[in-house]
Formats: sequence, structure tokens, C-alpha cells
Amino acid sequence: MTMLVVANWKMHGTRTMAETLLESIAKPAADVVNAGGTVVICPPFTLIDRLAQGFGNAAFGWGGQDCHVNTQGAHTGDVAAAMLKDCGAGWVILGHSERRADHAETNAGIATKVKAAHGAGLRIILCVGETLAERESGNAEAIVLSQLAAAYQPYVDAVAYEPVWAIGTGKVAQITDIEAMHRSIRGAIAPSTQVLYGGSVKAANAKEILATHGVDGVLVGGASLQQNEFNAILHAALSQQI
Ligand code: PEP
Repeated sequence: MTMLVVANWKMHGTRTMAETLLESIAKPAADVVNAGGTVVICPPFTLIDRLAQGFGNAAFGWGGQDCHVNTQGAHTGDVAAAMLKDCGAGWVILGHSERRADHAETNAGIATKVKAAHGAGLRIILCVGETLAERESGNAEAIVLSQLAAAYQPYVDAVAYEPVWAIGTGKVAQITDIEAMHRSIRGAIAPSTQVLYGGSVKAANAKEILATHGVDGVLVGGASLQQNEFNAILHAALSQQI
């Protein structure tokens, strides 16, 4: 099976830090790619152009963490999908729960962004996931399927199942819950779309998560900023491919 490993750097990274980190993970990333997998680094917008040029021969794909629905205009602080593409990104993360929470992003708005990103030729990683209250009230599957129904399109490259309560908290979903949710998601999407798990993936749990039935890769936040952690995650992905 070919794995997709996505690093979401969030609002972290200066030029020196980014270059040092990428140099240290270039070899294991190349091993994953040579075995048929894909490694996508999603730094802050400010770094994409420089890193895509400086590491142009490396195995990395590059992605934004969001894009605006419009192609240009009076939208202070925003970035259009075509601008991401122009500076070397091939991918974009859309619908991340931190954007849903911090920027009041709605399913309808995310649906529009999905179309805008596709129009600009970007490959899309669409994030879905329930809050703790939604899981505890037994509504996790219904919430995730409603998020998909609103924003998913068959051309979306990857759906990342990210339980909100597992992001950045150190809490990981039970393997049985990951398997069950990935089965539900798979039933609602095209066969060509990969299904990723995200939520406190780290060296210690990557192997088990990546070996879970229905998991085609991982979306990694905090651990993608730590060389040893991310190296171990890349090794775990490689061992699933050979
Ligand atoms: C994320 O940023 O999507 C994420 C899953 O973060 P973390 O790995 O830090 O939980």
C-alpha cells in the first residue's frame, strides 16, 4: 500500500529552522517516496516559495494550510489558491479544525474553498472530525459524514479524519474507533481518495496507526516539527509499503 504522510507545521517555522529540519528528514522522506509513497510538507505561507526552490530536487511535495475562496481581491491577510500554486505548492489543507474554530469556517465555506483550490490545480487534503462532546453524545459518525456531505468532491485527494479532541492534546483515538470511522468515511467517498488519520500521531504510535485497516497515511502536527519524531513516523510509513 502507498502511504501519504502530511506535515502540518501550523504557525511554526523560520527559514533557518525549516532548512535544518528538512535536511535532516530528506533521506527518510526520499525512501518513502521511492517506495511509492508521498510526503507533503505544509509550512506557513511565508516559507513555501523559499523551501520549494531550495529543496526542489528533494522528495517533498509542498502544501498550504488554507486558501481563500477568491482568486484575488480586497481580502487583507488572505492567500489565493493560485498564489500557493505560483510559489511552488501542489497541495492545500482545507477545513482544519483550528481554522474552523479560529476563523469560524463553516462546511459551506470549506466547500467553496475545495472548488477554488481544485480550480487552481491544487491537490486537496480535506479535514473532518468530531469534537469530544459530539463523540460523547454518540454523534461522531453523523458529524463526520455531514462534513463530508457538505464539502467533499470526488477529486479530493485525501480526507483526513482528525478527532478535534485528539489534535495537539496527546490523546489518540482508539484503534478500533479509527478503523470504524475510516470504514464509514470510505463508504462515502471515491476509491481514489486516500483516508488519513490525524491527532497526536507520534513516533510511539505511528506504526500501530499506519498498520490499521483503512488508514492510508497520517496528518502530523506537533511531531512533524521534531526531527527524531518525524523520522520515526516516516520509517513507520516506509515499513507499511515494503
Ligand atoms: C494537525 O495539525 O492536524 C494535528 C493532527 O496536530 P497534532 O499532530 O499536533 O495533534
